[in-house]
Amino acid sequence: MTSSDKRSSDVHHEVVRRFTQHGQRYTAQRRGIVIVLANSDRPLTIPQMLKRSNGTKGSLAQSSLYRNLAVLENVGAVQRVFSTDDVGRYELNDDILGHHHHMVCSKCGDIQDVRIPESLETNLDSALTALAKRSGFRLDQHRLDLIGHCSKCA
Ligand SMILES: [Zn+2]
Ligand SMILES: [Zn+2]
Repeated sequence: MTSSDKRSSDVHHEVVRRFTQHGQRYTAQRRGIVIVLANSDRPLTIPQMLKRSNGTKGSLAQSSLYRNLAVLENVGAVQRVFSTDDVGRYELNDDILGHHHHMVCSKCGDIQDVRIPESLETNLDSALTALAKRSGFRLDQHRLDLIGHCSKCA
């Protein structure tokens, strides 16, 4: 079993748990969406999801994709990500995917996942905790986007 197989089976295990909790069925279509998102290094738009699922088992139809995405959002498996354009992008929930940040292109709206080295995350957290504390704010977590131009738009 490769590490990406393991990651993907962990993801399904966690998603199944959330579906069971909400009394929803984890259908082939919904599983198909999760696979496409789990194999991506970035949040995906609806057209990108359709394209990537093409020819795979349980390939996605646009009509049911919206409905199934709504169910996946409701059970807490998928979240919508906002970019610099008005296009909706989707990714697995942070607590399934693991903590990460986004590089957002201000020209085309594309988003790429970026993971910051653990040591830098620790330094960030302690600096931000101290900063927040000055305002009497207790920091639980942080979100940080990198805004700029992707390699195609630079
Ligand atoms: Zn771009
Ligand atoms: Zn972070």
